[in-house]
Amino acid sequence: MANVLTACPFCGSGCNLYLKVEDGQLTGVLPSSSHPTSRGKLCIRGWHAHEFVSHPERLRSPMVRKGGKFERVSWEEALSLVAGRLGRGADVGVVGSARCANEDNFLLMKLARCVLGTDNVDFSSRPQRIADLAALSSTLGVNCATNPAPELAGADVIVLVGADLVPEITMIASLVYEAVARGAKLVVISPVRTELAELAEVSLQPRLGTEPVLLCGLLKSVVDQGLIDSSLLDRDWDAYDQFATDLSQFTLDSVEQRTGVAADAITRAGRLYGEARRSAVLYSSGLAQHPAAAAMATALADLVALTNHLGQPSMGLYPLARQNNFQGALDMGLAPGMLSGGQSLGSAEVRQRFEQAWGCRLPEPACKSLPDMLGGVKSLYVMGADIVGGAADPAQARRDIEALDLLVVQELFMTPTAELADVVLPAAAYAEKDGTATCADRRVQRLRKAVDPPGEARADWQIIQELAGRLGASWRYDSAGAIWAEIASLTPSYADITYDKLDAGWGAYWSSANGAGERLQLKGLSLQPVECPPPPVTDAEHPFLLALDPAAERWTTDATTLHSDNLRREYQIAAADFPAGHVEMHPDDAQELQLRQGFRVKLASAHGEAELQLKLSSDVLPRTLVVPYHLRDTVRDLFGGPAPGQVEGHLVYSPVAVSVAAAQR
Ligand code: SF4
Repeated sequence: MANVLTACPFCGSGCNLYLKVEDGQLTGVLPSSSHPTSRGKLCIRGWHAHEFVSHPERLRSPMVRKGGKFERVSWEEALSLVAGRLGRGADVGVVGSARCANEDNFLLMKLARCVLGTDNVDFSSRPQRIADLAALSSTLGVNCATNPAPELAGADVIVLVGADLVPEITMIASLVYEAVARGAKLVVISPVRTELAELAEVSLQPRLGTEPVLLCGLLKSVVDQGLIDSSLLDRDWDAYDQFATDLSQFTLDSVEQRTGVAADAITRAGRLYGEARRSAVLYSSGLAQHPAAAAMATALADLVALTNHLGQPSMGLYPLARQNNFQGALDMGLAPGMLSGGQSLGSAEVRQRFEQAWGCRLPEPACKSLPDMLGGVKSLYVMGADIVGGAADPAQARRDIEALDLLVVQELFMTPTAELADVVLPAAAYAEKDGTATCADRRVQRLRKAVDPPGEARADWQIIQELAGRLGASWRYDSAGAIWAEIASLTPSYADITYDKLDAGWGAYWSSANGAGERLQLKGLSLQPVECPPPPVTDAEHPFLLALDPAAERWTTDATTLHSDNLRREYQIAAADFPAGHVEMHPDDAQELQLRQGFRVKLASAHGEAELQLKLSSDVLPRTLVVPYHLRDTVRDLFGGPAPGQVEGHLVYSPVAVSVAAAQR
């Protein structure tokens, strides 16, 4: 029996665990007692992280669609077919995954740029984050967590925006609990009351769609109370002067009117955040998938910059990702126009360095992201990503994929996307290969092989190397470590990270021009104006506001959790009362409309109708309805189309005015 240390494959907390191996089989997990984030704990997903690896439905051999049905074929036949039909240049797109290792994603990026000659490169969850990450870059010069997550336990004030951390990123939520137990003050800002709001010193619950206005109110309160860092103003007065002029349009009374949140409470939250030295801001999917994500992220980045809560322990900004290797996929250059470490494909110096190392000509930047690829390329190579299952509009994604000349999917399971493929290639899971992953706070950690993959499945990087060979490349990587050496040699932010260094402790933090290692600094004040969209309006005919709640999405669309018997059972029990989904309504509204829990209700907007079961909850405000994000297809007709001004085709929906009535039985 052996215990193999590796990182949990589920969320951006990056907890470490030991995989228990007996007779070549995974039999369970044990938490690492000294890992700085998990500290001897795991959430329910971590405790069952071995289950999906051994699931009998794992893909075991390559398959090719013949006469409408999948047939098992040899690797030779499958890869020859892919090499012959994939095409090159602008006609082909490549999609990686925030679930795959850095080495897999880097090699896929190299395949795209160096062998296929295309800049149509993305990973499946990046389009949802374009708006907030771009906003952070504009103000802070970085679009990642500024500080190590374990420092959260030492913060004095934590502001949590649009995040239901407990189910989403559980061990980072646990650090927030620890901070509060130590005496830290918590400020929670969310239109839907979350579990952590119960612990909050100040809980601000704005009306749906008014969250950016509330964050401007928070900024205003910090400015009005003189809590900005005056040393910054001496240096960058002009930047501040324009910003303060823009902010003067807000008064806390007007913010109260628009958001429904008392001006006193906003002032108190601003004072708590601004007065404390060790203040940190966290956000996750509730902000990142909001139609006004750019405005909200801008406001938070401005807040952090104005108060200069950066560069020291237990402060900073944490944009948290659900997937374990979201940060790593971004860092490996899986984005149009970008090479590893955020280096620009358009930079002559960068291009020359990569071309010299790789011995190839790189394509010009084309900036075609995943939503643009769907309907914009003839063939698509997808590694570890369920594009249909994760799409904002799954029906449209399915239609776009069906129109492709060729779809190749490299996967663990037969996902909804793999079912549409022409060629399916079986890949190794995290426990079956070596590599690294970069968790939400930029900590790079080792993944270690514990067992062999099932059947003929292979590590993703091995499949990519085999394919590259059939396309004329002569790569000679004999291990994930060899790929890592190349990543470090071409990526300044990862330059001083070696496997030995990662093995010696609990990983390492990558550095950037904004700071070395663990903590990133502010390099000058670059405050950005916050452009708040107009708040949604209701009328007599449609008196409720309805929105999708990204934070309410649980484990329903992820192939790995769906193929874990215990996690699936947990989900089914949690959803047992509402197996076909639900809409949440405040009990006072239900009483007024003479509706009860479990009633089937008809929702109608100016655009369409939908029916769902009613769930009563005091977590939502009166005249507010919330539907979990994974039910977006059920209520899509109500929205009449995506929110305006979405970045690069990523679809999210603005809150919409609806009526509610008991459905006809
Ligand atoms: S919090 Fe995230 S990383 Fe930690 S055990 Fe749970 S799913 Fe895994």
